[in-house]
Amino acid sequence: MNIRTRLTLLFVMLVASILLLFSVTIYYLYDQFRAQEFEQRLEEKALTTARLWENENQALSNDLPAMANEQVTIYNEQERILYKSNKQLAPFSLPSGFLRNVLRKHTQTIQSGTLEALGVSHYNRQGDKLIIVASAFDRYGFSKLKRLREILFFGWVLCLAITGISGYLFANDALRPVSEIVAQVNTISATNIHRRLRVGRQRDELAYLARTFNDMLTRLEEAFISQKSFVSHASHELRTPLTVMMGQIEVTLLQTRSQADYQAALDGLLDEVKSMIRLVNGLLELARASADATTLNYQPVRIDELLWQAQSHIIQRKPQYEIDIDFENLPAQEEDLVIVAEESLLQTALQNLMENGCKYSPDERVTVRISFEAGQVHLIISDNGYGIPRADLPHIFEPFFRSSSTMTVSGHGIGLALTRRIVELHHGQIIVESEVGHGTTFRISLPTQQQTPTTRSTTFSSDRERLAGLNH
Ligand code: ADP
Repeated sequence: MNIRTRLTLLFVMLVASILLLFSVTIYYLYDQFRAQEFEQRLEEKALTTARLWENENQALSNDLPAMANEQVTIYNEQERILYKSNKQLAPFSLPSGFLRNVLRKHTQTIQSGTLEALGVSHYNRQGDKLIIVASAFDRYGFSKLKRLREILFFGWVLCLAITGISGYLFANDALRPVSEIVAQVNTISATNIHRRLRVGRQRDELAYLARTFNDMLTRLEEAFISQKSFVSHASHELRTPLTVMMGQIEVTLLQTRSQADYQAALDGLLDEVKSMIRLVNGLLELARASADATTLNYQPVRIDELLWQAQSHIIQRKPQYEIDIDFENLPAQEEDLVIVAEESLLQTALQNLMENGCKYSPDERVTVRISFEAGQVHLIISDNGYGIPRADLPHIFEPFFRSSSTMTVSGHGIGLALTRRIVELHHGQIIVESEVGHGTTFRISLPTQQQTPTTRSTTFSSDRERLAGLNH
C-alpha cells in the first residue's frame, strides 16, 4: 500500500472514529433527555388525574394532551385498583413489589416493551395514601429519536465520503514534492552526476531531504571523479615501465651482444620490474584499504620502538640515508609511550615519511623529533630538501600526485596517500609545511593508549576490515 493510500485511510479512520464518538454521545444524551421529559409528562398526568378524580370521584378527561396508549391507574395503599382511565387497554403489568417501592421512594419508573410507566405516591384530602401509575408510549419522543439516528448516520456517512475525497487530495498535494524529487532523481545517472535536485525556497523537511541528497551527490561525484582519475593514473604508471622494458628488450635483441651487455640489460630490466612490483604493491594496499576484510590486529605498541624499527629497515635497504631520532621530552609515565596501533601499518606510514625526507633531500638526511603531551604523541619529520611548491601542497596526499619540483626522483605518488589513510585510521592527524629550497616538515599527532577514543572498540572491526589488505 503506498503512502498516499495509507495517509488517506488513516485520515478517514481518524475522522470516522471522532465523528462516531460524537454522534453516539449526542444520541445517548438526547435519549436521556427524552426519557426525563417523558417521565415529567407522566408524573404531571398522574397527579392531575388523581386530583380530578378526587374532586369528582369519577373518570374525567383533563386538559393535558393525551399520549399514545395512555393509561392512568389509581391504587389505594392496599394495592387495590380505585380508578382506571382506559378500560379497553390491558393494565400495565407491574412487577411485584413495584407499588411498595413507590410508597417507599415516592416515585418509581419502569419500562416494558415500548411502554414506559411512572408510579407516584400521593395523599388525598383525607390523608390516605394513593399510588398513581401512569403509563404511555412516547410516540413523538421515539420518532424524534429515530429521525436523529437517521440524520446522524447519514451525516456520518456523508462526512466520511467528504473526508475520504479531501484526504486523498490533501495527501496527493502533500506528496507531490516527493514525486517530483523521485522524478528528478530518476534522471540522474553516471553520465550526468553533476546534476542537482531543485531545492526551492521552502525550508521544510522535503527541502532538507533534497539538500541532503544534493550533498550526497556532490560526495559521490567527487569519489567518482577521483576513481576515474585513479584508474587512468594507475594505467599510465603501469604502462610507462612496461614500455621502457619493451624498448630495452628490443634494443638488446637488435644484435648479438656480449655477456656483460646482457647482464647490464637484465639488471636494467630487474630495476624496472622491482619498481613495478613496488607500484603494484602500493596500489593493492590502497585498493584494499577501502575494501572489506576481517583481520586487522590493533595492539598496544611503543611509539619509540616503532620509530627505531622503521629507521633500521630503511637503513638496511639504503645505508646512505641518515635518519636522526630526537626525543624533545620524555613522558611522565611509560604508558604515555604506548599507542593502540596496527603495528605494521604504522610502520609503513613512518617509513614512507622518513624515506621521502631522505629521498627528496640532496643531503639524504631526515630528522624525527618526538614529543609528548597529555594523551598525545607528536612526531615532527623534517628535512632540508627540495621542498614542495605552495601550489602543490594541497594535492600531495592525493593518489599519484607528484610535485613538479621532484619529477627527477623516481616514485609513484602513492606513499603519502597511504600514509594519510593510515594516520586517520589511528585517529590521528597529519599536516605538512614546506618551502621550496628549504625543506619539508610533516607533523603527525596520534592519541596515546589512554586517550584512544572509546569508540575504538566499535570502530575496530570496520577499521580492521578496511585495512586488512594493507598488511600484505
Ligand atoms: P613518491 O615519493 O613515490 O612520489 P609520495 O606519495 O610519497 O610518492 O609523495 C608524493 C609527492 O609528494 C612526491 O612525489 C613529492 O613530490 C612530494 N613529497 C613527499 N615528501 C616530500 C619531501 N619530504 N620533500 C619534498 N617533496 C616531497
